[in-house]
Amino acid sequence: MSQKYDVLVVGAGIAGSTLAYFLSKKGVKVLLADMRPFTRAGDKACGDALGKHHFDELGVEYPGGEELTGNVKGIDVYSPSEGAKYRVLGEGFMIDRIKFTQRFIKGAVDAGAEYWEKTSATKLIVKDNIAQGAILRRDSEKIEVRAQLVVDATGYARVLANQAPDEWPIKDPLKPEDGIVAYREVRKLSKEVDEPEILRIYISKRIAPGGYWWFFPYSLKKGLVNVGLGVQNGVGYPNPKDLLYKYVLTRSEFKGSEIVEAGGAPAPTRRPVNTLVWNGLAVIGDAAYAVNPIHGGGKGSAMITSWCLANTYLGANEDTSNAALWNANKCFLEHYGIKQAPLDIFRMFLQQLSDDDLEYGMSRKIIKETDLNTVSMKGDLELSVVDKGMRLLAGIGRPSLLLKLRAVARYMNKAKELYRRYPDKPEGLTRWINEVSKLYEEYRTRVLK
Ligand SMILES: Cc1cc2nc3c(=O)[nH]c(=O)nc-3n(C[C@H](O)[C@H](O)[C@H](O)COP(=O)(O)OP(=O)(O)OC[C@H]3O[C@@H](n4cnc5c(N)ncnc54)[C@H](O)[C@@H]3O)c2cc1C
Repeated sequence: MSQKYDVLVVGAGIAGSTLAYFLSKKGVKVLLADMRPFTRAGDKACGDALGKHHFDELGVEYPGGEELTGNVKGIDVYSPSEGAKYRVLGEGFMIDRIKFTQRFIKGAVDAGAEYWEKTSATKLIVKDNIAQGAILRRDSEKIEVRAQLVVDATGYARVLANQAPDEWPIKDPLKPEDGIVAYREVRKLSKEVDEPEILRIYISKRIAPGGYWWFFPYSLKKGLVNVGLGVQNGVGYPNPKDLLYKYVLTRSEFKGSEIVEAGGAPAPTRRPVNTLVWNGLAVIGDAAYAVNPIHGGGKGSAMITSWCLANTYLGANEDTSNAALWNANKCFLEHYGIKQAPLDIFRMFLQQLSDDDLEYGMSRKIIKETDLNTVSMKGDLELSVVDKGMRLLAGIGRPSLLLKLRAVARYMNKAKELYRRYPDKPEGLTRWINEVSKLYEEYRTRVLK
């Protein structure tokens, strides 16, 4: 049996479901398929926090009703000793990720999309060097689906993109060390949380090497918190669940607490994928590595990839050539991706720092709270800040750390500049990818060593 659609979206997490919603609202014939049942839509282990600015930017309605479990006013970031704290203000939401994802699936179905739950994609169909569809499996049934555009929204698994021919730049495999693996629990605490609208992030190489642990008040009404820990993947660090149990859940605030939910998952923490589109195949969300390399938030940026791809597709009059869909790349970079590359550079530097260096840097506020916000929102680590730090701290100690920070800031600017020069046409991509590889190689050998 073979069926035909305009767009086949595999994966109904936040990326796939929002894409299906944006497209079907405009009359595009969409099939959205996911191996999970509807009752578990979007149910990936997550911190469940989402910035308000994403909704404002995309014109998407804020979470409300059962989707909303709490409001966020800011984040406290703690140093390894917890003696130094940065408070970064910014509004956001704590969400019920299943209800939130279901909103978009229902909206897509109401607008005419087909949604197949409990359906797995097993094979990408490529013919004449063009992606033409996928083989899906539902129970014991094998279904061949053809589409003008095939979208991989399967998250970290990248089930279809990983099957693309090696020479397609969309394949761009993820190196394990460019990702984190995290474990989190939702717990009911026996005591009330102070300042429930402030999320907390704790940086400590000893407790969460190459990552951090978090304490996010999840639902004030129900007295729940989302507590988790992520470590850098691929470099031999211990299991995050073991670390969470050893160092975090033994703290007094968890005494008498009960587990409501538990689970772990990986996430990419690198620069954006080389291209969102290639020869009839597109990637969005985690499959496009659209995640903030520093804090690992990816739901808002997943929605941006969907929004950019949908708008580009709608403007391309059913032309799914690379040239016609190229603007999806430009759109995503402009709205999010340009900051990801400098943040990736910064992430690699942070992952190298010892707790001693982190404590030193945070307690002396080498980077200030306001600058931390700028780094996270825009990927800019102002050289002036670093230079100020250099002058202030020269002679007090750690000149090598400060010199390194200055070099990191320089490479962050270089990376941003390179992503600003993303090619206007697909023909320029190979050359540009070579420039990116060269810059990263130079950074690794000259700065990280
Ligand atoms: C522990 C943790 C905490 C996080 N905390 C936050 C946070 O607080 N805020 C935030 O914004 N982001 C957070 N993130 C990141 C965020 O969860 C992801 O960026 C986001 O969920 C990505 O959405 P997605 O739709 O791209 O992928 P996913 O949510 O992974 O969805 C992929 C979908 O594809 C389906 N699928 C996979 N393979 C197949 C197949 N073969 N056939 C059919 N379907 C398939 C899956 O069932 C799934 O529904 C966190 C990540 C982790 C791991």
